[in-house]
Order: sequence, then C-alpha cells, then structure tokens
Amino acid sequence: MKRREFLKFGGAIVTQTFLASSLLESVFVETAHGESVSIRDLKNALAPDQATILVPTDSAFAGYQKAFNLRTLKTPMIRVLCKTPQAVAIAVQWARTNKVPLAMRSGGHSFEGLSQGTGLVIDTRLMNQFQISADKNTFVSGAGALLGNVYTELAKDGRAVPAGSCPTVGITGHTMGGGYGLLARPLGLACDSLLAVEMVNADGKILTVSENENADLFWALRGGGAGQLGLVTKLQFKTHQVSHVYTYGMSWKTTAKVAAELMKAWQQWAPESPREITSLMKISKGKDGVIGVRAIGQTVGTENILRSELARLSSIAQPDSLNIKDLDFMGSVRHFGGSFDPEYIFMKGKSDYIKEVMSDEGIAAMLQKIPSGIDVIFDSYGGTIRDKQDKDTAFAHREKTVSSLQYYTQWYKESDSKAKLEMMKTFHDAMRPYMSGAAYFNYCDLDIKDYARAYWGTNLERLSEIKTQHDPTNFFNHPQSIPLKKGS
Ligand SMILES: Cc1cc2nc3c(=O)[nH]c(=O)nc-3n(C[C@H](O)[C@H](O)[C@H](O)COP(=O)(O)OP(=O)(O)OC[C@H]3O[C@@H](n4cnc5c(N)ncnc54)[C@H](O)[C@@H]3O)c2cc1C
Repeated sequence: MKRREFLKFGGAIVTQTFLASSLLESVFVETAHGESVSIRDLKNALAPDQATILVPTDSAFAGYQKAFNLRTLKTPMIRVLCKTPQAVAIAVQWARTNKVPLAMRSGGHSFEGLSQGTGLVIDTRLMNQFQISADKNTFVSGAGALLGNVYTELAKDGRAVPAGSCPTVGITGHTMGGGYGLLARPLGLACDSLLAVEMVNADGKILTVSENENADLFWALRGGGAGQLGLVTKLQFKTHQVSHVYTYGMSWKTTAKVAAELMKAWQQWAPESPREITSLMKISKGKDGVIGVRAIGQTVGTENILRSELARLSSIAQPDSLNIKDLDFMGSVRHFGGSFDPEYIFMKGKSDYIKEVMSDEGIAAMLQKIPSGIDVIFDSYGGTIRDKQDKDTAFAHREKTVSSLQYYTQWYKESDSKAKLEMMKTFHDAMRPYMSGAAYFNYCDLDIKDYARAYWGTNLERLSEIKTQHDPTNFFNHPQSIPLKKGS
C-alpha cells in the first residue's frame, strides 16, 4: 500500500491509504487479533440507501460521536448507521468473518458506555420509524426510536406504553434491561408490554422473537437483552389507554430524624399502595447538612384516593410544598422528563434493590453518609410488576422487591471526574451492609464485581444457557454481558 497512514483513535488504529471518505474501500481497520482488514467488502455490500458508513476522517463522523455520558465515550474505527435489518445482518456477518469487535448503539444512554466501542459500532439511530396498528392496540418501533418520540406518536391516539421518564432514552436499550417508569405499577415494565422483536443473531440471520417463535430468546431479551444476544432492529408493543393522570410532588427540608420517619413510611406505603399510583422518593443533603426529601409520582386513578394515600406521608410531617396536577399523558411526560433535546454530561450512577423495608440502622447510615452532590432515588415496585414471578422473564426483581435505589451524580468538567467517582464509591461502599446485593442492569455500574448475579439473580443460569446456545463464541459482548455457561 502507498501512503499508508496510521491514525490512532482512543486506542483503536485505523489504517488509511487516503483520507477522503469517498475512498472508503481503501480504509483498513484492526481486528481483535491486531491484523488489518479492509472495509471494501462491507462498503460494496451496503448501498447508501441501506446504510451510511462513517470513519473518523469523515466530516459527519463527529456529529454521531456524543452520547449522554461523556465520561464513557470511545471512538470507533467505523460507525455503520444502518437503515434496514438486512444492512444490520451484513454488518454483523462482516464483523464476525473479519473478527472486528462490535458494539451496538441505539439511544446512547448507557450509564457505563456499554454501547461504545473502538471497533465497529452498528448504530440504529436511523431506524426510528413508528407505526401504530389500525385498531391502535399495538405499535411497531424501529430500534433507534427514542422514548419521547414514541410517547408523542402514541399520545395522538390517546395511547401510551409504560417506560422511563427521560424522553431521550432509547426504546431498545431501555426495554432490553427491563424499563421502569411512572406507569410501572398500573401497567408494568416496558418489557412487560413487549409482544415481539426482530433481531439479527450471531450468524447474521434475521429472526422474529416472540412467545410463539424463539420463545427462549423472548424470555431472555426481557431483562437480559442489551448488547449480548443479538442486535434488535424492530420492536412490537401492546399499547395502553392513558388519557390523563394526576401527578404529585411533595418536598421537605428537614432533620435526619424526620427524614428517617418519612423514608420508613414511604417504603412501607409506596410498594403496597393502590396500583394506580407509582411513587418515587429522592433523598439528598445540602451543603448545610439539611436533608431534602422529595416524593413524586402519579396516579391513573382518582385525585381523592391519591390525596388520602399521600396522608400517609403528610401525617408524619407537613411538607413544605404539595402540588397535585391534572395532566394529559404528554403533559406528565414533559412534567417529569423535561427537555426532548439531547443532553451531554459527565455522570456516575449505581443501584441497589431493597427486598424488605430498610432497617433503622440502614436508614440512619444513609442519612449520615450521603454526601452533598449525590441523590438517592427510590423507585416503588409492587403492583403490576409483581404480577409476574421472578422466573417469568429474565428481569429478576419482581416478587419480593420493595424498591430499586438509584445513586446518581453528574458534573460538567472532566477534571472533576476522579473526585466524583471516589465520592460515589465511598458512599455506595458504606451502604453495602444494608443492601441485598441485587442491582438494576439499566443503571449499570462497572464497579460491581459479580455483576451477572447482581443483575439477573436466580435467572442467571437459564440466561447463560440461552446465551451459550445462541451465541456460543460470545460474539456479542460488552464489559457486563451474560457469561457463557460454565465449562462451555
Ligand atoms: C438520563 C437518563 C434517564 C434514565 N431514566 C430511566 C428510567 O426512567 N427508567 C429506567 O428503567 N432506566 C432509565 N435510564 C437507564 C436507561 O434505561 C438505560 O441506560 C438504557 O440502557 C438506555 O438505552 P439506550 O438505547 O438509550 O442506550 P444505548 O447506550 O444505546 O444502549 C444501552 C444498552 O443496550 C444495548 N443495545 C443498544 N442497541 C441495541 C440493539 N439494537 N440491540 C440490542 N442491544 C442494544 C447496548 O449494548 C447497551 O448495553 C436512564 C438513563 C439516563 C442516562
């Protein structure tokens, strides 16, 4: 090769004879074994109406680089923005044949950048079509759709799907990990409304996955499907009629003693309250040491019942503020989710599951150790989530779960990362004696050593069996993917 140049991008090496993107066939990438492979065959196999191929020297490349968490960005050697499932299949086959490491990117909101890679990234963002059925009871979404777009389309027909509060989260990664939101107690997790999935498997075949076809994969995708069993290209969900909701918000700035009483009462009440109500509670501490307790949520039931239920908290201490609003579904999406514009920040999250109400010692430890700058957000479980057993889907935190806990901090300068990560780790470590050890995949955390047991609990063995059967070479992997069955 003449004029070969080696360009280093975040640890990955791209070898090019020319820099012009029109000459993509002369771009070489490095395989998992350190060999150079031309992307000519991939380019020749993918017409522009099937996929857009970008390498770091393309002017459009940078526009697709960012993801929510700037802390975990990686620069791939090639990004293939697929427009059809056939294009995904071709890209998967090419990566497998040439042993090029693969990552899958949809909404780009992974806490730990599990959709980032230094080899080939198959990016579904251009596959974001939406189609509701004639009877309005089901819809099909492309894998690259974002929750906000899906909610907007469904709301035109007075419909909704239960899923997360942030409009810029991708429907695919979210649903593959479970998918908790403010309709979770009346309607279940996002994965509980999933009817079928179209995906490309490790052989590059396009499969339909549902209760009736590839049922083992359908079980596994609902909680264990993110980046590890196949590349999802399309999802079909059932819809739910949700015309309006009553949202609520209550806040206290208070002492540790009152905060402890509120936390205990919330844990006893929220997961056992009428299933129309979904509640979250946020605990924080100001620089002055004052504890902030904020309870928020919504009901698809009546305002009267909501008010009488909230008395369980206000009878302990009158809140500084209590707001109840009657909103249509999109009003509630905007109320809780904020902007539909993409946001890019540095962040670290961690999680726990509470399987029984926290002990007085655990609550006291949390209130004492929580530093200013970290929020702990409790999401109430129970209701429809608990109608299924832990073994019914790969998502394993249903029967005994009181609440998930999300530990969250964000910042804006890379130079703050070390201190923020240390602060988070110290606090989370201090809570270990009081927690179950279970964690939520969607709030993934690379610090968890036995992550597979923490995420998938008693479902891990079945999940590993399915993984081994469908992807025996572990082609689809990321730093926290399902391990192959022992001995395979
Ligand atoms: C601001 C914010 C708010 C959030 N709010 C909530 C919430 O309310 N409730 C909740 O449950 N979670 C919430 N999450 C977590 C969110 O559900 C997960 O981060 C989810 O994995 C994001 O999916 P994504 O498609 O946006 O991300 P991506 O980063 O694109 O992907 C996430 C995971 O999915 C895999 N993946 C991506 N594309 C595919 C594909 N096509 N096929 C198969 N696997 C694929 C990736 O390998 C990766 O493991 C939030 C996250 C953020 C950052």
